[in-house]
Amino acid sequence: MSGIALLKCRTCGHHWQFSRATCPACAAIDPQPAEASGSGTVWSVTTVHRAPLPEWDVPGGYGIALVTLDEGARIMCRADKGLAIGERVVVTLRDGLPHAARS
Ligand SMILES: [Zn+2]
Repeated sequence: MSGIALLKCRTCGHHWQFSRATCPACAAIDPQPAEASGSGTVWSVTTVHRAPLPEWDVPGGYGIALVTLDEGARIMCRADKGLAIGERVVVTLRDGLPHAARS
């Protein structure tokens, strides 16, 4: 598994990333924890050239992507450079952060 924590609605099966007491799709209460498979599709991608932290400052910048996981949740990830919108990726945790790589 990916180590990417999600929440899943017990009523409608909707998945989302950030903690909230009710389902954003149907407003049911009592979501259950779920782990993402890690498979997904790039929804948006860019390269960051001004790192917010000195340790993230790398020559040529680093990739950031919004990935729609196969479960339906969309998450922001560090990403391999050169990914394209619509490309299939695998998201895993690297140094505690989600990272999208080509599948
Ligand atoms: Zn729901």
